[in-house]
Amino acid sequence: MASITLKHIDKIYDDGFHAVKDVNLEIEDGEFVILVGPSGSGKSTLLRMVVGLEDITDGELLIGDRRVNEAAPKDRNLAMVFQNYALYPHLTVYENIAFPLRLNKGVKLSDDEIDRKVREAASMLELNDHLERKPGNLSGGQRQRVAMGRAIVREADAFLFDEPLSNLDAKLRGQMRAEISQMQRRLGVTSIYVTHDQTEAMTLGDRVAVLKKGELQQVASPRELYEQP
Ligand code: ADP
Ligand code: ADP
Repeated sequence: MASITLKHIDKIYDDGFHAVKDVNLEIEDGEFVILVGPSGSGKSTLLRMVVGLEDITDGELLIGDRRVNEAAPKDRNLAMVFQNYALYPHLTVYENIAFPLRLNKGVKLSDDEIDRKVREAASMLELNDHLERKPGNLSGGQRQRVAMGRAIVREADAFLFDEPLSNLDAKLRGQMRAEISQMQRRLGVTSIYVTHDQTEAMTLGDRVAVLKKGELQQVASPRELYEQP
């Protein structure tokens, strides 16, 4: 894992809209930061800039101590977990999780190593009994876990979550929240996690960053933020 540092980050879209304004945030190695804010406040824009899907207009983005403003997404080693899972429907759960390991970037892993990593992740996410199934035959929560398994085997430097639980029913949401929390405790993953759900923020967050109209209004512990008089 690695730290993520945003220094004076600005985003001005081509049409002139100033979506993110002078955002400064240091996320420590292993820290879980929740990002909240009204719709249109710039949360997705910020995540997309961090992952490299959107150009940074101004400012500096560091992963660890490496400046990555101009780095391609694949060179940032971040894992993004979206609410629409983007699994490959024709591949089994096993192959979906193994996929990033088979892409053969740099190091070529043996089938045994791939197998060990896939089973380790599957076991942590309680997917062992579903490895031969296809995504179409899984529940929403199981699909979400496969997506997370794929992010885990990548051994990314940090995780970015964009409302990963928002389209699950209440029961699954609770279950997944507990699982992410457990994963967080076991792996100490550096994360930026966008949510509108206060329970998720309270359960998972080391700190909560509040974005409004593109500006960072407040960064505080969940307790400070939600239990203020
Ligand atoms: P959030 O994720 O908090 O809902 P977004 O980052 O999606 O907010 O959007 C922030 C603002 O930037 C919104 O006003 C949105 O309309 C605007 N925006 C998003 N994408 C573009 C774009 N490609 N061009 C111009 N404006 C955009
Ligand atoms: P390809 O298109 O080369 O078959 P992918 O679509 O899986 O492979 O990924 C291309 C690159 O984009 C990967 O090397 C990876 O670094 C990055 N990438 C893929 N998925 C994600 C993700 N969920 N979050 C962040 N980066 C990703």
